[in-house]
This record gives sequence, C-alpha cells and structure tokens, in this order.
Amino acid sequence: MVRRVRLRQVVVHNEICSGCKTCETVCSLVNDRECNPAIARLKVFYDQFTAESRVEVDPKCVLCGECVRWCPTGALSIGYFKRGEQQ
Ligand code: SF4
Ligand code: SF4
Repeated sequence: MVRRVRLRQVVVHNEICSGCKTCETVCSLVNDRECNPAIARLKVFYDQFTAESRVEVDPKCVLCGECVRWCPTGALSIGYFKRGEQQ
C-alpha cells in the first residue's frame, strides 16, 4: 500500500511582507516566554535601502501558527505539501 505523506510548513509571501518583525516577537513570546526576536524560529531580513524584506523559517519551527495569526499583512500562511514538494 502506498501512503501519501502530507507535510505542513510556514509559507512566506515576501512580496507583501512589510518587515515589521511582529512575527519574530510573537514567536519568541509564545514558544520561549521571552520577548526576544533573536531567539525566534523565523528571521526577518529587512533592506532599508530597497525597503524589501525576506523571511526565513528555521527548521526548529514547531508550526504553532502564532506568527501566521498575528502577521498584519497576511504574508505568512500554513501550507500543505506532499513529500518533495516543499518550498
Ligand atoms: S511576515 Fe508579517 S509579521 Fe513578519 S515581518 Fe513580515 S509583515 Fe511583519
Ligand atoms: S509557526 Fe510558531 S514556531 Fe513556527 S515560526 Fe511561527 S510562531 Fe514560530
């Protein structure tokens, strides 16, 4: 029997990310009870010259979904993939 494996991960839509870093703060608060973006399980890179931002999610992400819930622009979502199809 062939089993279909579906995987979840945080999907980032960098084109609508404002670089506000709310997601970093929320992640550290929820998972480590500390307001410390440096230990968040995702990292926001903001270029002040181009005003472009990029978010990278760490493999230590536990998929709690709180960054998705609190992102003010909707730049984060939870995606479902078959094995080998991840972003
Ligand atoms: S992903 Fe959302 S919460 Fe995180 S920096 Fe971008 S706009 Fe802000
Ligand atoms: S889903 Fe949870 S653990 Fe993963 S980056 Fe977002 S807030 Fe952090």
